[in-house]
Amino acid sequence: MTHQRVYLDYAATTPLDPGVLEKMLPYFSEKFGNPSSIHSWGQQAEAALENAREQVAGLLGCSPKEVIFTSCGSESDNLAVRGATMRASQQRGARHILYSPVEHHAVSRTVEQLVKLHGFEGETLPVDPYGLIAPEELARRIRPDTALVSIIYANNEIGSTNPVQELARVCRSAGVPFHTDAVQAASYLSTNVQELEVDRMSLGAHKFYGPKGVGVLYVRSGTPLIPLQTGGSQEFGLRAGTQNIPYIIGFAAALELAVTRRENRTRQVLPLRDRLVGQVLEAIPDAALTGHASKRLPNHASFVFKNVDGNALLMHLDLAGFACSSGSACKTGSPEPSDVLTAIGLERDWALGSLRVTLGKDSTPEEVEAFTQALPALVAKLR
Ligand SMILES: *Cc1c(COP(=O)(O)O)cnc(C)c1O
Repeated sequence: MTHQRVYLDYAATTPLDPGVLEKMLPYFSEKFGNPSSIHSWGQQAEAALENAREQVAGLLGCSPKEVIFTSCGSESDNLAVRGATMRASQQRGARHILYSPVEHHAVSRTVEQLVKLHGFEGETLPVDPYGLIAPEELARRIRPDTALVSIIYANNEIGSTNPVQELARVCRSAGVPFHTDAVQAASYLSTNVQELEVDRMSLGAHKFYGPKGVGVLYVRSGTPLIPLQTGGSQEFGLRAGTQNIPYIIGFAAALELAVTRRENRTRQVLPLRDRLVGQVLEAIPDAALTGHASKRLPNHASFVFKNVDGNALLMHLDLAGFACSSGSACKTGSPEPSDVLTAIGLERDWALGSLRVTLGKDSTPEEVEAFTQALPALVAKLR
């Protein structure tokens, strides 16, 4: 019997929305101008670019001058972290970086490089067993010479969602810029920067049904950055390089859908996710949910199974037609528990058996049912 393939890895990437693709297409062909050119082709491209910027600004609750288009979520994180710390170091001698131990590698590896090559002092904040940061802990550790605080909004591996507004307020009262990686959060949680009170926020379109290879960094005005990519004066001098107009159009269109359909999408995935979690924990012994039970993304389920090889489980699931993830980006089969699972204190014999199952707008009850039927036997076989 052949069976259908079921995609349960929407945290890794999402399919491009067909309506978004349609809006992008003319900018690959007839509307091909360079937005920096003086002539009418250039003006057409520039108008499209500035429209997209205004649209994004409207959706984020900021001014168009505060929206920087980048090539991906990782680049936004890099620009936020490296650009801000370099500037803070130059302007006020601040050399201390506070971040969480459960950041995406786009943040954590950037901080590690700043420490190793540029002599910054990196300090990780304590997290609770769900991977959450307490604002009081941040308040205790923030210093006058802290260059930047960077804390992830919604965790890609374990789904937990941090109290971003409270964390941002601690930073604001200390006069330290606050960055949040909202790449995973944008599909389901508020990205209104006035509400969140953040100073920088990273987004990437392919996590919300936009194209891969385009991101945004929100930069609150008056909180300057050093550009990482120098050259032309595109993006207010913060990112040189001719803008990728079709992808930027795609970013704006996808963000519009994310914001306007957020509640509907949440209503659709939340009961499915809750059923999935309940059935997995009921059917499988020595299984645990990772991340917080309720302070988490509504489409996100993540587990650990004691004494199971997580990579082998993923391969068996794939053979059975189910596309899932271990949650961490590592797919080389290296038998090291992820940084995130280590940071939340999981023992090795649990942490190596991780599984992330993430739902999306095309997920159905039948797919979830088929998955929860198939999983227990696979886990049992691998033990
Ligand atoms: C996917 C992801 C990134 C990286 O985004 P890209 O656009 O793939 O570079 C960064 N942070 C988080 C939390 C993510 O989930």
